[in-house]
Amino acid sequence: MSETPDETATAGAAAEAGAAPTIGTAPASGAAATTPAPMKIDAKLGLDVFKLDKEPHIVIDHEICRTVCAKKVCLTVCPADLYELDDSGDVIVNWEGCLECGTCLICCEPQALSWKYPRGEYGVQYRTS
Ligand code: SF4
Ligand code: SF4
Repeated sequence: MSETPDETATAGAAAEAGAAPTIGTAPASGAAATTPAPMKIDAKLGLDVFKLDKEPHIVIDHEICRTVCAKKVCLTVCPADLYELDDSGDVIVNWEGCLECGTCLICCEPQALSWKYPRGEYGVQYRTS
């Protein structure tokens, strides 16, 4: 029994046959490629909505930061870049913009953070458009 050519052959099968594998469909002759530019992270985060509680849900034990922590990884790991140094050199967190990912809690090895989710209905509300 002979096999008929398969129009949906995988890239691997095409490569075995000597053809260069391709992904997707080439635009029709004469048509301009109109791939939309990927959305920047700042623009994505800008869509989110925050309902602020009165009390912070992240509290820093500054004494631990000052006396134990040399790495201060919180200044670099937060995807929303919410940690910074104040004028006196203490680490502070702008918790109002928290994405509730928990990265800072996991990365803070000296355990200087008291972290909990905001109360019900408060905190980040993710938006995609
Ligand atoms: S990583 Fe933790 S202990 Fe170190 S500065 Fe940041 S909050 Fe403080
Ligand atoms: S939970 Fe995530 S977004 Fe919130 S402060 Fe920590 S690292 Fe930043």
